[in-house]
Amino acid sequence: MTVTTARRAIVRDSLAMPAVVVSTTQLNPHMVRVRLHCDEIEKFDYAGPDHLVRVFLPPRPGAELHLPIGARWWPEVCAMPEAVRPVVRNYTVRAIDRITGELDIDFVLHGDEGPASSWARRAVPGDKIGILSDGARFEPPATTRRLLLVGDETALPAISATLEQLHPEIEALVLLEVDDVDWELELFCPPNAEIRWLHRAPTAAPRGLRVLNELRSATVQPQDCYAWVAGESSLATSVRRHLVNERGFGKDQVYFCGYWRQPEITPR
Ligand SMILES: Cc1cc2nc3c(=O)[nH]c(=O)nc-3n(C[C@H](O)[C@H](O)[C@H](O)COP(=O)(O)OP(=O)(O)OC[C@H]3O[C@@H](n4cnc5c(N)ncnc54)[C@H](O)[C@@H]3O)c2cc1C
Repeated sequence: MTVTTARRAIVRDSLAMPAVVVSTTQLNPHMVRVRLHCDEIEKFDYAGPDHLVRVFLPPRPGAELHLPIGARWWPEVCAMPEAVRPVVRNYTVRAIDRITGELDIDFVLHGDEGPASSWARRAVPGDKIGILSDGARFEPPATTRRLLLVGDETALPAISATLEQLHPEIEALVLLEVDDVDWELELFCPPNAEIRWLHRAPTAAPRGLRVLNELRSATVQPQDCYAWVAGESSLATSVRRHLVNERGFGKDQVYFCGYWRQPEITPR
């Protein structure tokens, strides 16, 4: 039984491709979907539901976008003068359509402090952006019968796409930690999947605590189970530690990734 039709591809020699904003859709008060058109979309080697797309943004609102031209794009970006150097951030391909040449990215809006969040909040049709394909990481073994998907709002695009691509016979438990009901999205739920939304509010629980508490009381057996965990760094590491140290998961049964890091609050 296959878990999805996805296949892994860590792309090492991708080139940045120009793309342009076609439309934006507010998904909830805190997330916006940006639909892009890319003339070269056939070169985008989509490989699975958590496919990483590097986005290149102008260094300042209104500034010209300079994209690296070679496959060794990172040294090239670093060598650019600061005034023209694009901002590079990591996002997930929410959907891709090779016929229309369109690709969707769902951005969490977390204020104007982050250049990507700020860009997405202001994005309008015609805005220029660069995209670079960097492969998928979701790689459950062929024997997988059960999936555990755990994440916060930044993992919603990957988890949504995973549910849409899931074989209907696979059992899935999905734990999503968000602030409150305003963050929830309507997700496709395959017949053998259960989706649990967990709210940090009103107690303002630290990142990862709600999901970890839920996990502690959930029935999760490691046999034939693959866990995919992503979100704020402490959520990802604490869930992975729990699964490996307390629930008997092998390290190769758990994919985990810190998608972003909340700065530590230093007491005055
Ligand atoms: C493989 C991968 C896939 C990802 N996919 C997505 C995706 O599909 N959608 C998505 O929205 N994000 C996704 N992320 C997370 C995204 O890359 C980060 O949130 C990124 O830091 C946002 O960049 P920024 O320029 O807005 O903020 P930054 O300049 O990176 O950070 C500025 C400040 O904002 C804080 N911050 C950053 N992100 C958040 C956040 N989400 N909530 C609250 N505070 C934050 C930082 O701690 C920092 O203090 C993904 C990350 C990875 C590694």
